[in-house]
Amino acid sequence: MMNRTVRLAHRPTGLPAPDIWAIADEPVPTLAEGEVLVEVKAISLDPAMRGWLDGGRSYIDPVNLGDVMRAAGTGVVVDSRSARWKPGDTVAGGFGVQRHAVVAERHLEPIDLSVASFERWLGVLGVPGMTAWFGLLDVGALKEGESVVVSAAAGAVGALAVQIARLKGCPVVGIAGGPEKCAYVVDELGAAACIDYKAGDVRARVAEALPKGIDVYFDNVGGEILEAMMTLLRRRARVVICGAVSGYNDFANIRGPRNYLNLLVQRARMEGFVVFDYAARYPEARAQIAQWLTEGKIVAKEHVEEGLDRFPHVLPMLYTGGNFGKLVLRP
Ligand code: NAP
Repeated sequence: MMNRTVRLAHRPTGLPAPDIWAIADEPVPTLAEGEVLVEVKAISLDPAMRGWLDGGRSYIDPVNLGDVMRAAGTGVVVDSRSARWKPGDTVAGGFGVQRHAVVAERHLEPIDLSVASFERWLGVLGVPGMTAWFGLLDVGALKEGESVVVSAAAGAVGALAVQIARLKGCPVVGIAGGPEKCAYVVDELGAAACIDYKAGDVRARVAEALPKGIDVYFDNVGGEILEAMMTLLRRRARVVICGAVSGYNDFANIRGPRNYLNLLVQRARMEGFVVFDYAARYPEARAQIAQWLTEGKIVAKEHVEEGLDRFPHVLPMLYTGGNFGKLVLRP
């Protein structure tokens, strides 16, 4: 049996170019005791992938040259030398960018397709969903009625953060790229307003939408938008550093907000987090999110692309705004 893989051949500079990847067909290795063979059905594409392609260590080791690209995925067990898993079981795990993955039994989690699709288990019920939940409620310590701003508001993490804030009775303003995404953030996600940052003067338009200022800024993008939002903080505000996608293709030149002393003036705080630290609490968040989905209180959107060979062209969409919803590849 053959397996198609996407391996990292060269480290990128800037936006990852298609020629940094090597795509090949290789034999599937024989299973050892305790291992499981998974046919991958959906691969999660995440902005953080860009950081893993550089050589240095971050919150996680880089992907080594020659390795299959790291990625979360969902799929079906097709062969097993584990008493815990049998063919037909539907699972999630770190399967990588490939069609088949050999995984140790302890690295698999069950997923229930009657609750959500393979793709959605990588979105609101996967890492992006957990990130919105713990980022906003735990790190952001959001309280009912507080004013919230979310950047990359139409994306996988942002869209759920907007809806959690709305369900908590908070006036929430999104920031997103383009009129179509902004219409979605208001009409489908229920934000009070959404600012198209590509149309200019984000600061003035957020200030107009939230005249009293911001209690919680959930930052997915960093850069100039972060700096602008820092000028609108209310007393005791929280700035949640979830990500800084505007700088991921040029880490060396990321600049912090020059006006960070606004934190002092407003007795505010800014705090980053890595969602994996909350892994023990994922079940409580998942149960609530799944219930909201069933009750129709929230919506979720996946952007699905087809074909493993297209991975080199699909990944850059995350850094150009080409995705609309949780970006997933069906291999
Ligand atoms: P996503 O929002 O679905 O996709 C990325 C979006 O970022 C794009 O669609 C684009 O939307 C926006 N973007 C790209 N370049 C931009 C720029 N220069 N300026 C402003 N916006 C830009 O991705 P996601 O998976 O939900 O991730 C969102 C953020 O969460 C990322 O920063 C990611 O690293 C972070 N994250 C953090 C954790 C954690 O543990 N802390 C875990 C998961 C994800 P527009 O079209 O609106 O520009």
